[in-house]
Amino acid sequence: MPAMKTFLVRTFGCQMNKHDSERVSGMLLSAGLTLVEEPADADAVIFMTCCVRENADVRLLGQVASLKSIKAARPGQLIAVGGCIGQRDGAALLDELRHVDVVFGTHNIARLPALLDSAREARRPVAETLNAGDGSTFDLPLEREHPWHAWVPITVGCDNFCSYCIVPHVRGRERSRAFEEIVSECERLVTDGVVSVTLLGQNVNSYGRDLYGQPRFAEVLRAVASTGLGRVSFATSHPKDLSDATIAAMAETSQVARYLHLPVQSGSDQVLAAMNRRYTKEHYLGLVERLYTAIPGIALSTDIIVGYPGETDADFAETMEVVARARFDQAFTFIFSPRAETPAASLPDTVPREVAQERFDALVDAVQRSVVSKNAALLGSVQDVLFEGVSKRDETMLAGRTSGNKVVHVALPEGADESEFAGRFFRVHIDEAQTWFLGGYIVSGA
Ligand code: SF4
Repeated sequence: MPAMKTFLVRTFGCQMNKHDSERVSGMLLSAGLTLVEEPADADAVIFMTCCVRENADVRLLGQVASLKSIKAARPGQLIAVGGCIGQRDGAALLDELRHVDVVFGTHNIARLPALLDSAREARRPVAETLNAGDGSTFDLPLEREHPWHAWVPITVGCDNFCSYCIVPHVRGRERSRAFEEIVSECERLVTDGVVSVTLLGQNVNSYGRDLYGQPRFAEVLRAVASTGLGRVSFATSHPKDLSDATIAAMAETSQVARYLHLPVQSGSDQVLAAMNRRYTKEHYLGLVERLYTAIPGIALSTDIIVGYPGETDADFAETMEVVARARFDQAFTFIFSPRAETPAASLPDTVPREVAQERFDALVDAVQRSVVSKNAALLGSVQDVLFEGVSKRDETMLAGRTSGNKVVHVALPEGADESEFAGRFFRVHIDEAQTWFLGGYIVSGA
């Protein structure tokens, strides 16, 4: 069979998956392959999958099925499935999706080129997953989506075992990366022209717990912010591990984004206990108040699940109270759907679909009111905006983000090119507040 020359990567799910995809692209580019945009031009199509939400499974099945005719017209094309679904299902995926050639997991990304070669030479599918990683993926080459932004993993895996979540089962136990390695990677990134990094982990707040004598997350934030970066963001935070030291590091370090994603999941102590979240509503609201006091203007986002088994009207009312008191800038809202292999999947007392839908609709309305009011409060303010390029929907508009992670649209000056703005900070006066974006005009370079 002829050698592979081209490839394409399709990514589902979280930022960790986006980062893994950059590693996959980096490895295949280093091996001499070319990245293409259309499946019809690709000798290898790689899906980096997510199994946290139900619709991600469905989307994968649809996308792989849609390649059937393209693969028939391009003999020798290989389809590979990696990420969380590859890790969870392993070789069983080859039975379910007959035209998939390679299945790999979350711990053996580095093996992908060899697995593709093996499937091509042997002309038969291969599946390989490992039960644990050795951290070697940190050293793989990568191809960044934007030259000015980098994802920097600081932990992989998770030890929390929230009852509805599959992540600890597919990403393994939490492992922290060495402090010096994180800081020296950020220093190298600054030399390469990167101005913004996002520190990644399933629970960045517990960084260092597995490394005796290592600095903890607050020190990581301070050290990374002092490398010369313009903006340092991080995800995701667990409310039980968010420390006062981290809040102080955020408050005292201007490079750290004025934004925190702090998943609450539910406002009911009974539901939180059933979810194994290990904090209470009042603990969560106490954190929120400390954040608003220490970091005026901070934007908060969250995740909320409604319809968890056993959730009563009174439980849901507690969630609505949290939404009212926390004044979120954004919330990712979900109706509970059981994930195979998690404890929550076998719980009795499921909430009827129509009840869950009613609660979900009420929640979305409340969140939307909160978002509108938080955005309106920014009218007339001047924000530091990091531009990303022109808007995907309108090439005459520049799109960027504030330190609070709000999307901002600004008219591209006549005769200017987006490359003059992408990856650069500007001060923007905000004169428009919509639900999903802000509008304004540039007043100066930041
Ligand atoms: S903290 Fe909970 S929800 Fe987040 S990845 Fe770990 S187990 Fe999943």
